Amino acid sequence: MSEQHEMRLATKVIHSGQRPDPVTGAVMPSISVASTYAQSSPGVHQGFEYSRVQNPTRYALERMVGGLESAGLSEEEDPGCGGFAFCSGMAAIANIVELIPAGSRIVAMDDLYGGTGRLFTQVLAESRGMRTAYVDLTDPAAFERELTPETKLVWLEAPTNPLLKLVDLPAIAKIARRQAPDAILGCDSTFTSSINMRPLELGFDIAMHSSTKFMNGHSDAVGGLIATNRRDIAERLRFLQMSVGAVLPPFDSYLTLRGIKTLAIRMAKHNESSMRIAKFLDQHAKVERVLYPGLPSHPQHELAKKQLDGFGGIVTIFLKDGLEEARRLLERVRLFALAESLGGVESLVEHPAIMTHASVSPERRAELGISDSLVRFSVGIEDCDDLIADIEQALG
Ligand SMILES: *Cc1c(COP(=O)(O)O)cnc(C)c1O
Repeated sequence: MSEQHEMRLATKVIHSGQRPDPVTGAVMPSISVASTYAQSSPGVHQGFEYSRVQNPTRYALERMVGGLESAGLSEEEDPGCGGFAFCSGMAAIANIVELIPAGSRIVAMDDLYGGTGRLFTQVLAESRGMRTAYVDLTDPAAFERELTPETKLVWLEAPTNPLLKLVDLPAIAKIARRQAPDAILGCDSTFTSSINMRPLELGFDIAMHSSTKFMNGHSDAVGGLIATNRRDIAERLRFLQMSVGAVLPPFDSYLTLRGIKTLAIRMAKHNESSMRIAKFLDQHAKVERVLYPGLPSHPQHELAKKQLDGFGGIVTIFLKDGLEEARRLLERVRLFALAESLGGVESLVEHPAIMTHASVSPERRAELGISDSLVRFSVGIEDCDDLIADIEQALG
């Protein structure tokens, strides 16, 4: 797949790892629903035995993901070229944690997706004795202090949810390689998609996405994607995918591959409209503060310019009048749907303290800065003037 390195991203989202069907010439893979494949003699087959293990539709998606994230593995090295598809983002993360031994130490970003914190602390701490240290990784010195040589996994998100904190990935990788050479470095890339940032190019071992969000982008399939450029990790993950069995089904693999075909143009629109909406909100009398990596007022704007190819589709605001104002805004919006999730073509808005982050204790929310006046927008690809008019009337 070496020719993929010369392709630009907008071309890769169409062609990476794809080829016409050898029998019919079909330009999209068929949705291959068979659970089993006929063998001509015991053990003699065309590389496909049983659909949990090998599925052509899933492989097509996986090769795409490997290509998009610059995994750089050939199809001979791994049938998904270093890309993997699981039945949810959480299933993908759970399989990644299976790469490290029981009782391991994990160092994770303090502002993590709630479900990931729950998996680490309420499931894996009990079942596998995992110990997770939550650290503010915006501060590499704090990371260095927490990083013991026994650390087996470093896990972060950047930008985080909903505070849009960034992490300097090359700086973290440099410290980790020196101080905990055995640690696997993983980044949950859900908020950037493969278009705005690619962790493997920044020194990480694993990029992971909840494809439920931007990668599929149409709010019609739950899934999780992983890419790795390390052959040893790819081999083990392929074994785990087969053994644990949390695979993405063929129909969802097809939908996700179809969604990715428009990822580059969707992200361009998400990036552009979010920037406009962030600027609009920044000027609004009822808004106390806007958090958006593209605004010079973002505490890590310089890092954002260096590390991101686009500032993303999520805009977070603090309203001046707290919960009451937030409730009014959320009840009055017409185009923005009041809903959890993000990254779809349709615009969504939500209240983290009551909705997505309700499972985070009030004390912890206060520590992180997720207040009752905080509202998070996921900016869709509708006409941006309509979106701004909608927010304007809802705040009015
Ligand atoms: C949604 C989400 C997940 C979990 O993914 P599912 O597909 O819902 O299992 C993980 N990380 C982040 C950042 C997310 O937004």
